[in-house]
Amino acid sequence: MSTPGEGDRLVILGSKGGPAIRPGGPSPTSSLLELGGRRIVVDCGLGVTRGLVEAGTHLRTLDLIFVTHLHSDHVLEMGPLIHTAWTAGLETPVRVYGPAGTGYVWTRFCQSMEFDIETRIADEGRPDLRDMVEVSEFSEGEIVTDNGVRAAALRVDHPPVVDAFALRFEAAGRTVVVSGDTAYFPPLAEFAKGADILVHEAMLAEGVDRLVARTGNGARLREHLLASHTLADEAGTIAAEAGVGHLVLNHLIPADDPGIGEADWIAAVRKTWPGPLTIGRDGLVVPINQKHEKGETA
Ligand SMILES: [Zn+2]
Ligand SMILES: [Zn+2]
Repeated sequence: MSTPGEGDRLVILGSKGGPAIRPGGPSPTSSLLELGGRRIVVDCGLGVTRGLVEAGTHLRTLDLIFVTHLHSDHVLEMGPLIHTAWTAGLETPVRVYGPAGTGYVWTRFCQSMEFDIETRIADEGRPDLRDMVEVSEFSEGEIVTDNGVRAAALRVDHPPVVDAFALRFEAAGRTVVVSGDTAYFPPLAEFAKGADILVHEAMLAEGVDRLVARTGNGARLREHLLASHTLADEAGTIAAEAGVGHLVLNHLIPADDPGIGEADWIAAVRKTWPGPLTIGRDGLVVPINQKHEKGETA
């Protein structure tokens, strides 16, 4: 355990929105939050396990997992992460918090891996993985206070998903808010009030048409994106109204278009947000104990 506040950090493990992966491109959404000596994994998109290892985490110390909603780019690797931690020597129980249906995802994963789990228990003498994981399903409001970490959820606007949540984490005097997937949702500003860091999803308007053309799913995909996600300048508006210390854009759409670079994202956000700003990328580390001055670009 580290001293509260010391070494606290946010690591963006996967920075892209949507489940597809492409050569050399970033991974779907997952983050690691180290806050007050606790280790919190937020969302488990494809690549979360590799991302945690690359971030210097020992999988056997896997602790808390939060899932914002059950879209595959946020939950596809939840079971494989926990299972891999188990085979890496997981010593303590893992607590998973997610919306309604998260328990089903976990139990069905275990069923699909029954042969391997039973074999390793018998052959390697491992404890039963199914006894080491506790899944709690949450709705809006306070989720849990667990050894100094306080977590709360706000239902956001991510049609057609009803159980989609923003999450607020408080520990050791620091607050980090994660928007989850949402269309522009003004109540998020109140929920994120005064947070040290707001991690907000973002979409770049000029990139959407190019993305839709590449993915080949035409008008339906475009319609979904515009109804369910937030434009970068709108994320800036939420950050400004919430008065957060630092805005980190994540779940980028598009995330792997060579025609769209960090400068394009920054230009879009600067229309509405003058404060500390970081554009997410896989492996990005944002220290949490560092206070930023207004106007600084981090
Ligand atoms: Zn998503
Ligand atoms: Zn989603």
